[in-house]
Amino acid sequence: MTERKLICVACPRGCPITVYMDDSGEITKVEGNTCPRGDTYARAEVTHPERSLTSTVKVTGGKHYVVPCKSSTAIPKELLFDAMVEINKASIAAPVHIGDVIIKDILGTGADIVATNEID
Ligand code: SF4
Repeated sequence: MTERKLICVACPRGCPITVYMDDSGEITKVEGNTCPRGDTYARAEVTHPERSLTSTVKVTGGKHYVVPCKSSTAIPKELLFDAMVEINKASIAAPVHIGDVIIKDILGTGADIVATNEID
């Protein structure tokens, strides 16, 4: 049996959670969460951790050289570095509008990289 200690980030309360797993990696118990969201968070974090990604993308022909962007949904943690490589290679022509898709389905994750600001 192994255990993993986490701090729940699903709300500001930050409950300390312990996830217990058997020798095959199956989750046998989650404790320390104050509500069901903590249980869901802890199980996902242990089995397939994901993160939202925020960054900037180059802009051509605009008033500014970069535009802030984010992933439309969380992407697997192990793909964050490769996603940043793709974002660093990308560019978008001005004008840019909030919600413009800069990279569709980045790395086949189903998440789009979208602009989060306007650039004239
Ligand atoms: S377990 Fe519930 S109450 Fe505790 S930090 Fe997570 S979401 Fe908040």
